[in-house]
Amino acid sequence: MLPCFGLLMFGVKNGTLASLVMFAIIAFFYWIPYGQSLLQYPYSPTFKMRFPLLYLAFFAVAVMLEKIREASKSALTESRRKYEFLCYHDALTGLYNRFWLQSVIDNPEQYHLKPAAVAVLDIDNFKFINDNFGHPSGDIVIKDIGQAIVDTLNGSGDVCRWGGDEFLIIFHTDIDAEMVCKRIVDNVCAHRFVFDKENFNTTVSVGLVLAPNGGTDDIGKLIHQADINLYHAKDYGKNCTINSELKP
Ligand code: GH3
Ligand code: MG
Repeated sequence: MLPCFGLLMFGVKNGTLASLVMFAIIAFFYWIPYGQSLLQYPYSPTFKMRFPLLYLAFFAVAVMLEKIREASKSALTESRRKYEFLCYHDALTGLYNRFWLQSVIDNPEQYHLKPAAVAVLDIDNFKFINDNFGHPSGDIVIKDIGQAIVDTLNGSGDVCRWGGDEFLIIFHTDIDAEMVCKRIVDNVCAHRFVFDKENFNTTVSVGLVLAPNGGTDDIGKLIHQADINLYHAKDYGKNCTINSELKP
């Protein structure tokens, strides 16, 4: 039993050590004349040969099983890591997805998030790009704008692809969210795309809402208000940020 349970309980390294110590004890009693003289019963020579060899065979099987178990465990851990990533990330942009956002809204304490502000961004006239240059070009625009947001944020917030051409930013505390949003609007506007030999730019509109001092746990309320501000930004002529404090 020792090789099997030893390896299972203590892992390959320590289990092997314990099994080898036990094998040395067995070899001492069965194969070394002094050890043999200490035995109480006269075991047959074949038994004294068969028992240690069987022990070694069990040990070899136990090592093999343990290696297989370790390999399947690491394969499972790897696929779990992969599926967790896919579960919480958008396949096109690699940003967080809506499922992640819902999980943050449902368990803010688990994510240790007390947002200072939330912004909802929507690409302006995006249908025009899809209609004129095709869906794959539209995908490139979404991807590049996602990257521009991440680069401008520089770690000061979490970005999520909220919908088709919509992004959502949860700003960490101690950040001038309005200034960052204006910078995002400028950076996106400055980014040039070339499709079908046509060189053009696109813009985004931003609805921003600032939480009371010290942040808030109520991310859902912030998102709702930011979404309303986004509509105001679209009405205001697009390519701008409309900002307000969270209404009580
Ligand atoms: P507005 O300025 O008012 O936002 O106008 P808009 O043309 O951007 O309109 P809207 O935001 O409603 O358009 C979103 C479009 O995004 C509709 C849909 O066909 C397109 N879309 C959604 N998901 C994807 C995607 O993954 N890839 C591409 N290429 N297009 C997408
Ligand atoms: Mg849009």
